[in-house]
Amino acid sequence: MTDQPTPTGEGLRADEVSAYAALEDRVRAGRTVPLTMAAQRRGKPPRHWLDLTGEQRRDAVTELGLPAFRADQISRHLFEHLDVDPSGWTDLPAADRTRVAEAFLPQLLTAVRPLSCDGGTTLKTLWRLYDGSLIESVLMRYGVPGIRASGSGRNRATLCISSQAGCGMACPFCATGQGGLQRNLSAAEILAQVIAGARLLRNGEIPGGPGRVNNIVFMGMGEPMANYKAIMATIRTLTAPAPRGLGISARGITVSTVGLVPRINQLATEGLPVTLAVSLHAPDDELRDELCPINTRWNVAELVDAAHAYFVATKRRVSIEYALIRDVNDQVARAELLADVLRRDGGHGWVHVNLIPLNPTPGSKWTASRRRDEAAFVAALEHRGVPVTVRDTRGREIDGACGQLAAQGA
Ligand code: SAH
Repeated sequence: MTDQPTPTGEGLRADEVSAYAALEDRVRAGRTVPLTMAAQRRGKPPRHWLDLTGEQRRDAVTELGLPAFRADQISRHLFEHLDVDPSGWTDLPAADRTRVAEAFLPQLLTAVRPLSCDGGTTLKTLWRLYDGSLIESVLMRYGVPGIRASGSGRNRATLCISSQAGCGMACPFCATGQGGLQRNLSAAEILAQVIAGARLLRNGEIPGGPGRVNNIVFMGMGEPMANYKAIMATIRTLTAPAPRGLGISARGITVSTVGLVPRINQLATEGLPVTLAVSLHAPDDELRDELCPINTRWNVAELVDAAHAYFVATKRRVSIEYALIRDVNDQVARAELLADVLRRDGGHGWVHVNLIPLNPTPGSKWTASRRRDEAAFVAALEHRGVPVTVRDTRGREIDGACGQLAAQGA
């Protein structure tokens, strides 16, 4: 019953290895994939407790012939104790444990291959789903004494999770985007990634002592806004207090989108103070049409307007993600244009620009900016009063950094 995050020794199957190779060939040949807005209808993962709302959980246990109070017991095991293996739940009669396991806790994630770097403080896990699709999640712990690669500052942990198997947004610089979309994940498949990461930290399996997940970022595989319903169900369970959820602060959750404007507007009405990150990558439509094909549907002006409206509705500062690509989008003139495009009410108090040195995907024609161009880009933004930081590139050597998540089934 467990979603074991520990090595299984299974490794990749031959067809999965060849899928990786085929993806690399496609990228090398400079071929791009078409934009896909909706996932193909595929089989759904089996019903899981993590997909149910509070009310559905009570109905589900009574349907099974168990008293309604079992619902909170089950949730407590999952959300408070992060224990997904009912065989040890001694507050339930043994026979009920088996029935609960069979009815509500099918194994959704199987760890195929964990990879770690940065002295063990960055851990990427490749998961196989029930239908053979592959996804990845990345746990990054910061500020661990004695491990320089973990950086300085407060000891905290960020978990980067996937919302889809693959991605339909077709951004040509992103490995996931070049693999196309396999399917949407269910809320349970997303939440199971969080529970697995939280358990590793709680159990002290990551250097730095027992800890908890402070931040959750939807920056793994997939476009979260293209899987809106599941994302909202996930966020509701992440933020619900125990026993109904994981009790994680909405302020610690970041939803990153390439720019599905109607969904940004919808998120602004949910009354949830989650952080919005917008993957802009270019301030002008001509270049953004190329870097983010969705721009041909909702352009820079529409996207920035929606992001600003999100700030007005939630008072949450919006992150603008900008991957710096050598000689493509890293000119000072573009930094200046970016500052202009983001100016609202005469200033930039509503945004924070996050520059990401491009992680080149295998064989790609694009690479990261030169140091001096990066510095000039930063300086041009700072000069115009735009809050800006350059993101670290944790997990690079295990292909766990932004845009490198390329696992895909055959
Ligand atoms: N679909 C969501 C989540 C994508 S991953 C979105 O577009 O926001 C999170 C971030 O990594 C996005 O900003 C994405 O554009 C960026 N990214 C993708 N490929 C990258 C690469 N090769 N190098 C650097 N950043 C990359």
